Amino acid sequence: MNLIILTADDYLNDNTVVLRDRRHQHLKQVLKRTTGETVQVGLRDGLMGEGTLISQSTEETQLQVVLTQAPPPPLPITLLLALPRPRMLARTLEHVTALGVKKLVLMQTARVEKSYWQSPELRPEKINQHLLQGLEQARDTRWPSIQQVQRFKPFVEDELPTISKGSRCLVAHPGMPTACPYALEEPVTLAIGPEGGFVPFEIEALQKQGFEGIHLGPRILRVETAVTALLSKLF
Ligand code: SAM
Repeated sequence: MNLIILTADDYLNDNTVVLRDRRHQHLKQVLKRTTGETVQVGLRDGLMGEGTLISQSTEETQLQVVLTQAPPPPLPITLLLALPRPRMLARTLEHVTALGVKKLVLMQTARVEKSYWQSPELRPEKINQHLLQGLEQARDTRWPSIQQVQRFKPFVEDELPTISKGSRCLVAHPGMPTACPYALEEPVTLAIGPEGGFVPFEIEALQKQGFEGIHLGPRILRVETAVTALLSKLF
């Protein structure tokens, strides 16, 4: 936890917060902060700064906080991710959040097992836990938005043109003739396939909407590795 993320409910008054949950445990047991010492804090969707520990008991920690610093800039990307298997979803959510993705669409594709949508990993409390861990890791406060799309075709034909308007549209697919572009400065909408990859119909449907196929070289990467490699190259 490189940043303690605060919410409005933590405030006792304008600049004092009280923590009684895992953040209190972390300050006490892992960071071992004592009175007068400081820690990096940030308000969810708001500014970041320093918290000075003013009191601590077995049940709670109180911090005096001064927030002056803007969170890091988000990546200018909308990520369309075929829903990964639940175990991989947890890690991928954490990685993409830490890397600065703020708009994520989890979508059904032909090679996504429908049963994945019933996974407990898709419950809001589980998703929020992974997003929080990504933000705490990266020192960021801006909460990503996640849209879940269970029908690929109507989404691509009816909603995607609005979502992707004004951005460069890319689909990562092994064997495509064009290499992943590097250090872009424009907004991007990027589609990444499931473990079994996109089927030809899906690639064609995305291409019809202006998506350009790109590759990452001859090695086939796991989704979570491909996401990290693509985001690093693109930005
Ligand atoms: N057998 C699948 C195929 O050939 O499409 C492999 C899918 S890969 C495990 C999962 C996703 O990661 C792909 O759909 C693609 O979006 C991305 N990916 C992985 N390796 C890639 C590469 N070398 N080039 C482009 N995209 C890649």
